[in-house]
Amino acid sequence: MSQVEMLPRYELYINGAPTPPIVADYFPTQNPYTGKDWALIARGSAADVDRAVGAARLAFEDGPWPTFSASRRGALLRRVAELIVAHAPRLARIEQRDNGKVAAEVLTQVNYLAEYFHYYAGLADKVQGDVIPTDKAGVLAFTRHEPKGVVAIITPWNSPLTLTSWKLAPALAAGCTVVIKPSEFTSASMLEFAALFSEAGYPPGVVNVVTGFGEEVGVPLVNHPDVAHIGFTGGEIAGQKIYEAAARGLKTVTLELGGKSPNIVFDDADLERAMLGAVSGIFAAAGQTCQAGSRLLVQRSIHDAFVQRLVEFASAARLGDPTDASTQIGPIATRPQFEKIMSYIEIARAEGARCVLGGRARREFGGGQFIEPTIFVDVDNRMRIAQEEVFGPVLAVIPFDDEADAVRIANDVQFGLAAGVWTRSLQRALYVIERVKAGTIWVNNYRATSYTSPFGGYKRSGIGRESGVDAIREYLETKCVWLSSELDVVNPFVRR
Ligand code: NAD
Repeated sequence: MSQVEMLPRYELYINGAPTPPIVADYFPTQNPYTGKDWALIARGSAADVDRAVGAARLAFEDGPWPTFSASRRGALLRRVAELIVAHAPRLARIEQRDNGKVAAEVLTQVNYLAEYFHYYAGLADKVQGDVIPTDKAGVLAFTRHEPKGVVAIITPWNSPLTLTSWKLAPALAAGCTVVIKPSEFTSASMLEFAALFSEAGYPPGVVNVVTGFGEEVGVPLVNHPDVAHIGFTGGEIAGQKIYEAAARGLKTVTLELGGKSPNIVFDDADLERAMLGAVSGIFAAAGQTCQAGSRLLVQRSIHDAFVQRLVEFASAARLGDPTDASTQIGPIATRPQFEKIMSYIEIARAEGARCVLGGRARREFGGGQFIEPTIFVDVDNRMRIAQEEVFGPVLAVIPFDDEADAVRIANDVQFGLAAGVWTRSLQRALYVIERVKAGTIWVNNYRATSYTSPFGGYKRSGIGRESGVDAIREYLETKCVWLSSELDVVNPFVRR
């Protein structure tokens, strides 16, 4: 047996049980800190997708799930929340082994998932229809909200369990069944997570996971005629392909895509807090977050002093083993992502931006792929480093003159996921809030998200919103019912 064959194996998860793929093929998954393979993941195919969607459809139409009251669905979600807390350290370790997220952040994130399940547990039996006061006599019209059916959930590698739960908790609260396709780089935590749903008492087929690659699993899943809705988080290219496929099948979608978010610092801000906000915006999670504040807009009067303080602070950030509690910046999660970030550092240099911090790959830790916190100044907003998502620890600093200039630069980009504003002036903050086109605006803070609050993008950052009360609507159809009390015979050729 070769060393690779001796690694632990993860199967697909279909109909409530680990299930080997039809074509008995597995691919290795790496630990980005060591650069070594640590497990084998089942390589799903279109035939596996067909099995999983078949199981999800059967569970949706038949068996106990459709007979469960909304309150009972809520009780199951609460049980999942309890299991998440019980298993959080183990799930966090597995996720970290796949994507290299630092200890403090990954454990906090996994524990916090329980709150999403509690929130939608509470919401499950509070989705109410309306009685419609129609203009017609002798009828009672009312609406019912019914689950859409089988939902496909497709997620990236940066926060696998979190981004899945943003879709999974409301989908299950609504009464849908799901087939999840995690990123090929981070499948293990999702497979461990899926087993908790059987433990919680979900009927087989309600939650299924098919691991594998975008073309081999994602494409057939999106195109499957029995999939009613697609919840996707990931890059713009895959997002566009999914939207096109969904249009052909006339399916609904929620798309959470990329960003190039402006973090705007005015000269009257609490500059130390703003500096920490800039660090959190771009260097937390090594910049591998969709909401990264990757364009730092600094008012010209404070630009040089602010950058100097930022460089001083960021240069002391500790890179290293993500399992070590004192590490602040872990490895880049995947090899292709590492190469992409390094190529953007070269692009920025070639465009004439000046690197005042970092800019180099580091290999002395663990053997995996690290990139130093990197800051570019002399950036013009038309440069590629200011327009394109890098998804790494690379900051582009752009000066601005006044409020109107800041807003112009902030909006001069194709994305609209988020923005930050740092000021003590209410007028300035409101001026920006009213004008910047982004789904989230943080004032004097950066990077907060919650199960209570809608999250999503303007422009090319996506379609729809996740989290909060309205997110459950993405998984529901509205049916309007007309009940007649008419006793007389009516003329069938005249519309009432
Ligand atoms: P990606 O788009 O390459 O892959 C995401 C998922 O889609 C993976 O599971 C992949 O296998 C699958 N996929 C790829 N092509 C597909 C296709 N044609 N049909 C169906 N599925 C397909 O993204 P990634 O590199 O894994 O993640 C990084 C991206 O995710 C960044 O652009 C980032 O901005 C985005 N992201 C967005 C948010 C948000 O909430 N807006 C959050 C995190 C990450």
